[in-house]
Amino acid sequence: MRNIVIFGAPGSGKGTQSALLVEKYGFKHISTGDVLRAEIKNGTELGKTAQTFIDKGQLIPDSLMIDILAATYDGMQPCDGVIFDGFPRTIPQAEALKEMLAQRGTEVAGMLELAVPDEMLTERLINRGKTSGRADDNEETIKKRLAVYNEQTAPLIEWYEKEGKRHAVKGYGSLEEINAALCTVIDTF
Ligand code: ATP
Ligand code: MG
Repeated sequence: MRNIVIFGAPGSGKGTQSALLVEKYGFKHISTGDVLRAEIKNGTELGKTAQTFIDKGQLIPDSLMIDILAATYDGMQPCDGVIFDGFPRTIPQAEALKEMLAQRGTEVAGMLELAVPDEMLTERLINRGKTSGRADDNEETIKKRLAVYNEQTAPLIEWYEKEGKRHAVKGYGSLEEINAALCTVIDTF
């Protein structure tokens, strides 16, 4: 069972690359952003809470997010591997993931970092906003999300480096190129 964290800033291509990996390896995909957007769409209490944070470009509080993640993970069918997309986004989340997997007799195989320059991220997100229908893909919220990423999420790069699990790949170029770079790392897990 390979537990793979796909990591990167908003707009780094985590969702796009995850889909390609699911197709190639038959992994399951947990996207916390997708989970939250489904809750919002269904008008649940959780969705209402999540929306207030997402609209401001902020993160959902760790304790809530950690519970959602554990429930999603435990609700999955047994499979060959899982891709964690959008989680962890803070150091407490990374610690919680480590503990949660240890309790289940497993661990993170590796963290794949999609490295993309800041200017490219903003441009991609503004473009995505034209068709995504996502309320948070507007210029003002994008700015906040990138600031939150730099402040709260980027420190995870060093955290995973210290764990000996960080693998950075170039997150721009063609989709196939990026995918091939990710597969080269995954095949060593
Ligand atoms: P990408 O473009 O790479 O898919 P993203 O930042 O655009 O990344 P999502 O991962 O879909 O988007 O997340 C959307 C929003 O959901 C975040 O801005 C945040 O408010 C909330 N969210 C998602 N995952 C988490 C998490 N692990 N902890 C806290 N909040 C989260
Ligand atoms: Mg996404």
